Amino acid sequence: MPNPTQEDVEWAYLLWNSLADHGKWVLPGVGVYEKTDGRELTLTEIHFSKPSTDEFGNSVFDRHHWVMILADNIGWTINEDVVLARDDDGVLNIPNELVGHVSVCKQQCGAIFRVEEPNPNEVYEMIGDDLKCPCCGEEGSVDERLRGVHVIVDDRAWRVINDRAEEEE
Ligand SMILES: [Zn+2]
Repeated sequence: MPNPTQEDVEWAYLLWNSLADHGKWVLPGVGVYEKTDGRELTLTEIHFSKPSTDEFGNSVFDRHHWVMILADNIGWTINEDVVLARDDDGVLNIPNELVGHVSVCKQQCGAIFRVEEPNPNEVYEMIGDDLKCPCCGEEGSVDERLRGVHVIVDDRAWRVINDRAEEEE
């Protein structure tokens, strides 16, 4: 994302100052910021859109970062206290009791699935009823507890294994 322009800065200044206490500012493609103090906004909701990066390759994280730069310019603080995350299909399902759960694909394809609290710099994928692994595509390969849960798919090992297999061909 390009750095905020003078115009962006003035716009933010006027907009944020006009927010009432606990007023909400909805930024498309990022989420909801709530005014939690005189010069403080808190990101309380993340809205992931699909695809998770837009045509310029900007992710939710890039746009949130852009807001932080903007805030810095006018002496505001941005906090994060995400209580809700959703994508185009609805609210992300991340059960509290599963946060911290880590598992791997049963096919040993290299995929790792992590359950983490919603966070703007990650991309979440939902595990379907068929427990299909998002990397190797084999059904029934994901831990049953993750059925319908949004997880972070760590595919780094899977990519290494795949590249190696391609080289050997
Ligand atoms: Zn797999």
